[in-house]
Amino acid sequence: MRAVRGEILHFTGDPAVAGTDALRHFADGLLIVRDGLVAEVGPADALLAKLPADARIEDRRGRMIVPGFVDTHIHFAQIDIIASPGGQLLEWLERYTWPAERRFADPDHAAAVAGFFCDELLRNGTTTAAVFPTVHRVSADALFAAALQRRMRVIAGKVLMDRNCPDLLCESCEDGYVASRALIERWHGRGRLLYAITPRFAATSTPQQMQLAGRLFAEHPGVHLQTHLAENRAEVAWIRELYPEARSYLDVYERFGQLGPRSVFAHCVWLDDTDRGRMAATGAAMSFCPTSNLFLGSGLFDLALADAAGVRVGIGTDVGAGTSFSMLQTLAEAYKVLQMNGQSLSAERAFYLATQGGARSLYLDDRIGNFLPGREADFVVLDPAATPLLARRSAACGTLAERLFVLMMLGDDRAVAETWVMGEPAWRRP
Ligand SMILES: [Zn+2]
Repeated sequence: MRAVRGEILHFTGDPAVAGTDALRHFADGLLIVRDGLVAEVGPADALLAKLPADARIEDRRGRMIVPGFVDTHIHFAQIDIIASPGGQLLEWLERYTWPAERRFADPDHAAAVAGFFCDELLRNGTTTAAVFPTVHRVSADALFAAALQRRMRVIAGKVLMDRNCPDLLCESCEDGYVASRALIERWHGRGRLLYAITPRFAATSTPQQMQLAGRLFAEHPGVHLQTHLAENRAEVAWIRELYPEARSYLDVYERFGQLGPRSVFAHCVWLDDTDRGRMAATGAAMSFCPTSNLFLGSGLFDLALADAAGVRVGIGTDVGAGTSFSMLQTLAEAYKVLQMNGQSLSAERAFYLATQGGARSLYLDDRIGNFLPGREADFVVLDPAATPLLARRSAACGTLAERLFVLMMLGDDRAVAETWVMGEPAWRRP
C-alpha cells in the first residue's frame, strides 16, 4: 500500500451535464493505492489517521494530481513525420504518411519506434491511448509489446487497407482478416491491452474489406473499432464517389456494421445532425483532434452539436498530423477551435474530456479516468510552477478554474512532473 499527498482533482461525471457536482477536489488530498488500484481518495487530514504505520507516503504538496490522460486517437508510426509542412489530408498521406509507414515492415524499426512512442506518451502524462500502428502485423506486435512492458492501457490493431494505397502497404482483404484474428488472439485482454479493428478509412478499404472489418467487430465481443471520419472536405467528396449508395460518410461505416459501443471515429468535422444522431443512438464515440484539424486545415469540430446530440466525445492528439503529444497543449488548441465556432470550453470540461470523458468514449470508465475506489491507479502529478511564466501566472490565480485554465493554456510536457501507472512511478521529470 502507498499513498500520495497533494492537491487532487478528478471527475465523477461530465461538468457539462452535472455541473460542479461532477468535480471532486481536495486542496490537501490523499490518494491511497493498494495493489495498483485506487483504495481511497479524500482529504489528507481524515485519511492519514487511517493509514497503517508502515504505509509509504509520497509528499507532493504544491503539485496537482489528476487521473492519467486518455488520448483517444494517435498514430505511433507517424512520429518521424510530425511537423512536416504542406498539404491537406490527402496530399499529406501521399507525401509523408505512406513513405513513413512502409518502414514498419521491419520489426526492428517498429520495436525501436514503439518504445520511444510509449515513453513519449508517459512523459506527457498519457497513460491510456487508442493507437494506429501500420498495416504490418509486426508493427502491432511491437506496439503491444512496448505497452505491455510499461503496463500501459493501449487500444490498437493493425491497420486494414486493400486499395488506394501504395502496393507495399496494400494487402488482400482475406489477409487483413486473418492477421487481425491472429492479433486479437495474441493480444486482446493480455495485461491491460485491448484490440481495435482498424480500417484506416473507408477510402482505403474495398466494400469487401469494410464488410470483413464489421464482421471481425461482431465476431469478437469486447474488441474495439477505430477509424477516421469526415476530416476534410476533399476526403468527404471522394467517399461520396466511392460509395454512391450511402447517405453520408458516416452511413458507410454504419452499413458495414462498424458503429456501436467501443467504436471511435477520429475528427468528425463534416457531419450533419442525422450522423450525430446515429452516433449517439449506436453508442459510437468521436475523437476531437484539434491540433491536427488546424495543422492540416481540415475544419472546426463542433462540440456544441455533439453535446446536443448526446454523443460521447474524447480528445485525440492525432500525432503525426497533430503537432503535440501533450494533452495540455491539445486542450489549449481545442479551446481555440471552439472559440472560432463561437463556443467556449471551460477548464473543468477540458480536464474532464482529457480524463474521464476520454475513458467514457472508449468504454473504459469503469476501469480508468477517475479516482473512485477500484479504478486502476494511473495518475499525473502536474507542476503549476513548471516554467517562470506558469509560476507567475498561477500565483496570481484566485480560483481552481483559473488555475486549471492557465495550466492548459500555458502548460505542456514541462508541466508533467511525474506519471504513475497502476500505482507505480512510470516517469519522473529529471
Ligand atoms: Zn489519424
